[in-house]
Amino acid sequence: MIVYLPDGRPWPGQLGEAALDVLELRPAEVVLPEATVRDERGGRLFNGSTLMFDPSAGGGPLADAVADQQARAFGVTNTAFHVQRALRFASALLGHPLPRLLVRIGMHDQPRRWRGGHYRLPRSSLTDEPATLSSAGEVHLGGGAGFLPTPDGSRYFHAPAHNAAIICHEVGHHLCRHTADFRLNRLRPPENQTNRKIALDEGTADVLTAILLGTPDIYGWHRGTLAEGDQRRRKLQPRWTMAHFVGGRDQDPHADGTVWASACWSARERVTATGAGAARFDAALLRGMESAGADADRLTEDALIQRRQFSRLLSAITQADPGIAPVVLAAMAEHGIRPDASNAALEDAARAVLTGEVGR
Ligand SMILES: [Zn+2]
Repeated sequence: MIVYLPDGRPWPGQLGEAALDVLELRPAEVVLPEATVRDERGGRLFNGSTLMFDPSAGGGPLADAVADQQARAFGVTNTAFHVQRALRFASALLGHPLPRLLVRIGMHDQPRRWRGGHYRLPRSSLTDEPATLSSAGEVHLGGGAGFLPTPDGSRYFHAPAHNAAIICHEVGHHLCRHTADFRLNRLRPPENQTNRKIALDEGTADVLTAILLGTPDIYGWHRGTLAEGDQRRRKLQPRWTMAHFVGGRDQDPHADGTVWASACWSARERVTATGAGAARFDAALLRGMESAGADADRLTEDALIQRRQFSRLLSAITQADPGIAPVVLAAMAEHGIRPDASNAALEDAARAVLTGEVGR
């Protein structure tokens, strides 16, 4: 099959051949051992067993029907590849598979076209989500909207299924749900979980994306018009610290999450520089997340508050691999993150350091 292989540049990637482990091919759906990826707009995208499609610059409403069909088929196979790659990366480090993931493409395109993605669990209150959602979790990707530039100056219809960064980020939420479980969804009724995300959830999804794409500029393609130092770009370098942390219910968890993602990225680079290998950090991160998710047996406000603390997850990571703990702690400290302190205390301390530097 042909997919986009990420090469760290701000565009969809390098087209190349890759292998995919497929259980079954249905007209608009690929069934993998660990996930199902479906185009919800129906029709027959797959004939026979070949998965060689042309990306057709993303297809979209301005493309002709044949090109749009190719772009949709490419979107399903490209998404299947990145989903399988991300889930296998996680299960290899954890030593067990994650629950099956359902990925639905072409969702929420009414009344306005959607170029984003999200991760959803079932909940009982009224939403614009489908009546039945998998209790293990689903990734929804829009059918696309708007155009993005490419290096050769052409325009590319922004279909999220063509954008590995969006796919990897959403798989990251599935990983969080079934390891650190920041919102204690496993203690809630399967049909009434919560979809609210905290900063650690967004930040971990972002650093997983950086690891899988091999670049700290994870959204350089579709957020490329934002300055590299704009927090909304969510580039993990330059260094974001607890002085940038805001917290609270009204704050966008993606922005606060950038502090965590940026600190993890620094720690990973530091571990790599010691010659230990990046996988050593990746394993500690994932196993730390799993142990951080394991200890609550009651759904209380206290347990939820604990799970929001950056220091708690940091301690879990260092306990997962004491051999790299000093290096990880030193790197995290440069972002204002250290063990045994609340997010608010870390934020105050980091701001005090900044004020001191300015005053001197
Ligand atoms: Zn997210």
